[in-house]
Amino acid sequence: MVEHGNHRDESRRRTRTRFAPSPTGLLHLGNLRTALFNALLARRDGGDFVLRIEDTDVQRLHPESVQRLGEDLRWLGLEWQEGPEVEGSHGPYVQSARQAIYADYYVQLEAADLAYPCFCTEQELERSRRAQRVAGKAPRYAGTCAHLSMAERQARLDRGLQPTLRFRVPRGRSIAFEDRVRGVQRFATDDIGDFIIRRASSAPAFFFSNAVDDALMDITHVLRGEDHLTNTPRQLLLLEALGLDAPSYGHISMIVGDDGAPLSKRNGSRSVGELREAGFLPEAVLNHLARLGHAFEDNTLLGLDRLANGFALERLGRAPARFDAGQLTHWQREALHALSHERMAEWVVWAAGDMLPAQQRDAFIATVRENVQFPEDVRRWCRVLFQGVPEPDAETLGWLTEAGPAFFQAAAEAGGDWPAVTAAVNAATGVKGKRLFMPLRLALTGLPHGPELPAIHALLGATEAQRRFRLAARRAAAAATQ
Ligand code: GLU
Repeated sequence: MVEHGNHRDESRRRTRTRFAPSPTGLLHLGNLRTALFNALLARRDGGDFVLRIEDTDVQRLHPESVQRLGEDLRWLGLEWQEGPEVEGSHGPYVQSARQAIYADYYVQLEAADLAYPCFCTEQELERSRRAQRVAGKAPRYAGTCAHLSMAERQARLDRGLQPTLRFRVPRGRSIAFEDRVRGVQRFATDDIGDFIIRRASSAPAFFFSNAVDDALMDITHVLRGEDHLTNTPRQLLLLEALGLDAPSYGHISMIVGDDGAPLSKRNGSRSVGELREAGFLPEAVLNHLARLGHAFEDNTLLGLDRLANGFALERLGRAPARFDAGQLTHWQREALHALSHERMAEWVVWAAGDMLPAQQRDAFIATVRENVQFPEDVRRWCRVLFQGVPEPDAETLGWLTEAGPAFFQAAAEAGGDWPAVTAAVNAATGVKGKRLFMPLRLALTGLPHGPELPAIHALLGATEAQRRFRLAARRAAAAATQ
């Protein structure tokens, strides 16, 4: 077995990780978690987190998604130390601007006969793959163009054919590497066909630009999805042929939905933008994602620094990580709870839109703070507190009827503060405990649960509270006569 030898001694290198998205759409939870793990590793080691845009697949490029991606990362606090808008010494950080750099490496490989032009058409390749499948073999490039003479190549070029460039995979070797998550991995090069490193359009293929850029950008660790695991031996071979250093790779498990299927729209995956629109706080998203496939000792809400300190490659799990909407909601609750007054105010004002009177803002926040998790909760409490009690449902009406009109008359006539109200009702009716507080709560809010009653009463003000008690008295009286 030939061990793969071109890893640098990483113990003496500054940690550099990267997030290398292809900007083909919105940033979803899966790639966001990849970004997060890489960012945490760099942060823990006081190293650099690099953002590189892999946009060589031009047909699928959405320019606006590059910008969105940056906004999404920044919303989560995942600032990059080098990358678009943060130029450093390893740029450019957008692959479409690196063609000239790649050109030198193609020349180097061709000169050493480690790469060759391939003139096979897509139809020819498909025919060959089909034949291999029929023969019960795993399809790989049959090597049709691997040994063309100069004259044969020239003849094809003269016919106007646009070749791709293929890497000549060495035969009869075993390639092994230590995956930082999955342990030692071994692959036989005989199972790997010569692969394309430059397309006919002259754009670099993923295998090539991704590996070359990791080396040129001095990346020490690559954490990426396990769907890339089988790409790694190819990339190690390429780097070895180019005499470039390979990073240390770790392939992280995929995220599955609560039905066990890969995370998709159907079972709960959402884009960062959708989560933000739904009112999730970045801290909540971070804390849930960080724990998807990584175990932390500390189960409290952690900021980025503490997440980074608790992050360890050894703690990354191999089993698929299960996305759990309930967990995300749990972190949302924790995150709201921990929010500073200023940020809470910002979030509440955003969520309330025009439903929250400015002069009531602080009292409203103090009152409902522990009772809101999502924007619709904020809006519900705005409606209840500033627009009026909802129509009673059967259960509410039952409570109002049982308490009876005299109960609410007493509450309305008490005036003054909350203790005066409860004292007056108790004196008039003799009820206490739940039979005292539930009808009062329902009269004031129409809802069986919610913030502390004294706070609600103070926020409504004595006059509005009296109005609501009288309304409850009328409803109780009307229900009794039916
Ligand atoms: N552009 C690749 C992707 O988005 C990067 C894979 C990697 O991290 O190496 O899948």
